[in-house]
Amino acid sequence: MAAAPSLLKLGDEFLTWAEFKAALDNYQETTHAELSKISSKKVETENRKLPEGVQKFPCAHVYRAVKFGCIHYGKPRPSGSGIRPNQSTFKMGCPAEIYVSSDRKKGKLVVTSFNDNHNHEVGEEVRKYYPSQRRLEGELLEEACKLTKLRVDVRVLKDHVHKTSGKLTTSKDLHNLRASLQQGTEADAVIRALEDILHNDKGAKIAVVLDQDQTLEALYLQTSAMVSSFSSFPEILFMDATYKTNNLNIDVT
Ligand SMILES: [Zn+2]
Repeated sequence: MAAAPSLLKLGDEFLTWAEFKAALDNYQETTHAELSKISSKKVETENRKLPEGVQKFPCAHVYRAVKFGCIHYGKPRPSGSGIRPNQSTFKMGCPAEIYVSSDRKKGKLVVTSFNDNHNHEVGEEVRKYYPSQRRLEGELLEEACKLTKLRVDVRVLKDHVHKTSGKLTTSKDLHNLRASLQQGTEADAVIRALEDILHNDKGAKIAVVLDQDQTLEALYLQTSAMVSSFSSFPEILFMDATYKTNNLNIDVT
């Protein structure tokens, strides 16, 4: 039997990013700490800044330097400052972090800073509540999507996920899944309806306003009957509106 790899520590050296990443994954699995990239510099970018003839950072290192922080890294938002209380952030000011950087002379990726003094409990039970562990993947995700489309109650689905996989997926996670599935199908339905109107009513006018992120800001629709009414009686304009009665919270006027 192969010996278990030793746990990641200060001064550890690696030839490649993949080698380091395997050690980091093993460290997280073993200690149940949850780390993510806080900041990074790519080898490619840093090498471009080096003068000609100077030894470059090895491409296999991928990163010139990376800082990993605990999921509870970062200052917590002061509670009561917003409409919503401090419910969605994990920020607790945890000082645990790992810094790895590329050493050109050695040709190695070196762990140059290592702090595992978490300011909170770390363990298997705690980690189960972290988003990475609650995320549904593969067959489990497919099944959850299928059951969501069949309109299975979120609480029932949540229990089912807990029982079959042990994952502590929350009601909010499953509501988000449902919203993402609905958005796709509803957006498709809107596009089909608009295409139908343009196909059946050659005089119809449709204008779409998108913001910088290509997100719909406004949709304007005028059928040929509306165009003709408006050109006959331009001095009269009736306005009717609904106030955020749809699931996208958009006004319909
Ligand atoms: Zn921590």
